[in-house]
Amino acid sequence: MQFHEREVAVLIGEEALQARIRALGVEIARDYQGKELTVLAVLKGAVFFATDLARSVDLPLTMDFLGVSSYQGGTETTGEVRITSDVTKPMAGKDILVVEDIIDTGLTMKFLLENLRARQPASVKVCTLLEKPTRARTKIEIDYKGFVIEDKFVVGYGLDFADRFRNLPFIGVMKGR
Ligand code: 5GP
Repeated sequence: MQFHEREVAVLIGEEALQARIRALGVEIARDYQGKELTVLAVLKGAVFFATDLARSVDLPLTMDFLGVSSYQGGTETTGEVRITSDVTKPMAGKDILVVEDIIDTGLTMKFLLENLRARQPASVKVCTLLEKPTRARTKIEIDYKGFVIEDKFVVGYGLDFADRFRNLPFIGVMKGR
């Protein structure tokens, strides 16, 4: 028995996940042909996705990382976001692809996009592995999307529950929640 099996059930298996990421990589490579892409991964959750995605994009690119933490009001975000670790290079003039693990209420991404646009990049696009549209509290234009999911709390492939389960190679749901 693997360590997670008592608590987590598979929602999107490893093969389906990797196949979808490869397809997104092909799409992104086609769209950014001739440009110098900056893949900006949101810490910590999107790191697993962003590194697999970057490996699927057949273009020269650079990677940077932005740490954010959302203030929680009860179980959900209040929309007030704090940057806990900033990027290492100037974003001005760059073609930025923000890579996120999940867009839930959308409030974190709204804050991030406002913050990034103030730095005057050449372009900003959004790529998220998962979207929970039923929970949206603001409209976010998503340019690249892995999967649309129901309103369930998911873990794995970067997503945590109390900082655990990030290392699962699939997306799962917590049993009995
Ligand atoms: P937002 O509500 O601002 O769109 O999402 C804020 C953050 O909440 C996400 O980046 C993610 O870290 C976390 N989050 C939202 N839904 C889930 C979920 O189902 N599972 C996990 N582990 N984190 C989630």
